[in-house]
Amino acid sequence: MPSYPLRALVLRKTKLGETDTILTLLADDGRQVRAVAKGLRRPGSKYGARLEPYAIVDLLIHTGRNLDVISEARTVESNALLREDLDLSAAASVVADLLDKISVEGQAEPVLYPLAVTTLETFQTAEKGAVSAVVTAFLIKALAMHGYRPELEECAACGGRLEDSSSLSLEHGGVICGACRAADASSLRCPPQARAWLRKLLHSTLAEIASSQMPQAAVYDCFILVRAFVEYHVPARLKALDFYAGMLTVK
Ligand SMILES: [Zn+2]
Repeated sequence: MPSYPLRALVLRKTKLGETDTILTLLADDGRQVRAVAKGLRRPGSKYGARLEPYAIVDLLIHTGRNLDVISEARTVESNALLREDLDLSAAASVVADLLDKISVEGQAEPVLYPLAVTTLETFQTAEKGAVSAVVTAFLIKALAMHGYRPELEECAACGGRLEDSSSLSLEHGGVICGACRAADASSLRCPPQARAWLRKLLHSTLAEIASSQMPQAAVYDCFILVRAFVEYHVPARLKALDFYAGMLTVK
């Protein structure tokens, strides 16, 4: 059987038969790869806890007739804290769920992988209070890299000046001017200050965002807008994002 090496981030585990598991992986070139880990759910499996969600692993994979099969696994970065801490686990699952839905088998998207790795790393080093800003930044950056970069500089409908515009249009994919707003039923309230924060989330590095001490109210306003933007452009239901939104509301 031909085999190939793969460095990848584990996104999701799905049960297969009695003791096997299908892993959904994000390869380091941004492709989605699905492969079977035989006997992973058997006590004393040779993989131990290496193939858990959010772990980064080096794999050797055999090409199978239907599904490829993992034959060796080595931990590159366990990211164990993301599975042990409830808040971090909720944040990491937003990342894994979105990547699971937007990555495609056989289609490289090289910028997604480094974004994912840096986001998961930043969750673990950031102050607790900064994690939701990092989640929001990840969402807007991932969407931008995936072809849905929100227009925040000029009117997304007519190209005109924004001045004190206060609307984000889902249909036009960005902020729109007052004149265009009247004709757009998909627009959401987005005051100039929220637009300024959205620009910061889009353009700053994750480390800068983690240390920016963005006010929680501003994070929440941006999260609501970015979540609506994600849901408009990603056709699949994102359960982890729904759960995270519920957590932010409670806090
Ligand atoms: Zn306009």
